[in-house]
Amino acid sequence: MSDFSTLSVSELKEIQSDLKGIYATYQKQGLNLDMSRGKPSPLQLDLSNGMLDVIQSESNLKASDGADSRNYGGLDGIPEAKEFFAEILEVSPKEILIGGNSSLNLMHDTVMRAMIFGVQEGETPWGKIPKIKFLCPSPGYDRHFSVCELFNIEMVVVDMKDDGPDMDVVEKLVAEDESIKGIWCVPKYSNPDGITYSDEVVDRLAKMETKASDFRIFWDDAYTVHHLTEDPDQLKNILTACKKFGNPNRVFMFSSTSKITFAGSGIGVMASTEENLSYIKKLISFQTIGPDKLNQLRHVRFFKDKDNLKEHMKKHAEIIKPKFDMVLSKLEEELSDKNIAFWHEPNGGYFISLNTLDGCAKKVVSMAREAGVTLTGAGATFPYGKDPRDRNIRIAPTFPSLEELEKAMDILCLCVQITSVEKILESKAVEQ
Ligand code: PMP
Repeated sequence: MSDFSTLSVSELKEIQSDLKGIYATYQKQGLNLDMSRGKPSPLQLDLSNGMLDVIQSESNLKASDGADSRNYGGLDGIPEAKEFFAEILEVSPKEILIGGNSSLNLMHDTVMRAMIFGVQEGETPWGKIPKIKFLCPSPGYDRHFSVCELFNIEMVVVDMKDDGPDMDVVEKLVAEDESIKGIWCVPKYSNPDGITYSDEVVDRLAKMETKASDFRIFWDDAYTVHHLTEDPDQLKNILTACKKFGNPNRVFMFSSTSKITFAGSGIGVMASTEENLSYIKKLISFQTIGPDKLNQLRHVRFFKDKDNLKEHMKKHAEIIKPKFDMVLSKLEEELSDKNIAFWHEPNGGYFISLNTLDGCAKKVVSMAREAGVTLTGAGATFPYGKDPRDRNIRIAPTFPSLEELEKAMDILCLCVQITSVEKILESKAVEQ
């Protein structure tokens, strides 16, 4: 089939009638397929089952500093866990704070501390300022945006380019507006585009002049080891760059093992300067006596070192790469020559981001739902759930089986085609 925009009204109507016939047959099948959330599949979770056996009741449960991990203590984590994550995030172990089971929890609490106490000793709490704003490179991660909504932080959309956020816009906004206090970044294999920030973007973020002295980068490096190819993307270290350009305290880095071991039962981690962490630890000490050290011990003894972790992530890739390939080949087969959609081919991460013609995404998602395929809600990848062009759809291929995914993609591609034909027919009717 050829470029839809070049077809005549009668050709389009004929295609529409054929496609609707196929859609009706799917509707009758009573399917229930879910491509909505980025969850690991059971097979991926099985890869870490061995971790449950590495600490047993009779094993030595002391951390490397002699602390009994069954007892209270260790506010910022056991030394070997800090060393392990320091190697992954390329910072010093002194710049690591190990949290509980979730990095989102750490991000939420970091925003909340800034709202109530300020980002550093002596800084005005953000909650005392009448209006504050965050820059939100979009499409982005919906739960970052929900944190902003919860604290009534106004979100400013910044477009994502192929190498990260549009830095001309970011630099201009932060230089002019003191109420802009932060930016959300998923710098590697971004959610949902799968883009990795270029060295230039990292440097510009680290270097830029900000009107607000307490501006912070929320650097959510959730997918830092989640490669899909033998030739992984490289991300420049932001903390090193911030130090180099004289803004050492500008960045809070986050990551977790949620999609490495067990989602929801992994380890969340944060990295920043010792100065930032010492302030944060003071406040956290009111909140907890310390995180789960047994889980830290279990993780570190299971992985041992970064090389083992690499091997483990290769096994994840072996399971999920065929699913990404399936999604991409369906998009290619069904949509590529019709000029009605485009997408990114990620080298890692958890998502494929599909852009339809403007004004089609909501309709596609609702049509797919009626045929039994659940997708992430259209608009969810933008602040306030509002995609200004109503075109972005996030595909999460990891959880369904390959067979389920194949069917779900057939239906999604069908819905994209039907909706696009309708859109093109509408615009042709307006032209006449
Ligand atoms: N950040 C990003 C970019 C995510 O996609 C997710 C969801 N998996 C999270 C954070 C949540 O991570 P955690 O389970 O550590 O809270």
